[in-house]
Amino acid sequence: MAHDNYLSLISLSLDNMLTEDEQFSLEKHLQSCAACMHAWEQMSLVDGMFKAPVEITPPPEFTSRVMARVSSYEKRRHLYPWMTLIMTTILLAAMMSIILPVLFVSLGLYRVLFDIPVLGDLLTRLIEMRAQIVTLVGSFGASAIRWMSIVTNDPMALAVIVTALVMISIWIGMREALKLQPAAELSTQSA
Ligand SMILES: [Zn+2]
Repeated sequence: MAHDNYLSLISLSLDNMLTEDEQFSLEKHLQSCAACMHAWEQMSLVDGMFKAPVEITPPPEFTSRVMARVSSYEKRRHLYPWMTLIMTTILLAAMMSIILPVLFVSLGLYRVLFDIPVLGDLLTRLIEMRAQIVTLVGSFGASAIRWMSIVTNDPMALAVIVTALVMISIWIGMREALKLQPAAELSTQSA
């Protein structure tokens, strides 16, 4: 019998599909043929690998790792919209606080406020009380008013303040982003 035939006998033998005679003739050949003996060893090795019960148990920390990743993702998913909202609000508020008074005064929009019943009355009283307020607030109020007039009259000062506010908003945003970074690093390290 040729070697190829013994190879198919080896395969059948591993599946317990040989007759006693075939099994006997195979064993006899294996004792005398190194090549077929080697093939037998290789094939029985592979066969054993497939027959052995394969344990597909996840590593012990697997679940906790996955949960840590999920929770860190959830945290970021919840924080980012809030961060964006807060940053946008700060930026808009900063811009409005600068632009609105300027628009108000330059366009004469403040006159409209006096037509609003309660607010107009309040403003009228406030203007009447202005002299007292200025006296009360004293030098601090005076310097604040002077500062405000500089800001509203000097476009350079206005630009500096707007830039500063934008920088502060960016800084706050960066700080929040950096706060999240260690958590993200930790989850990649443990992975
Ligand atoms: Zn052989």
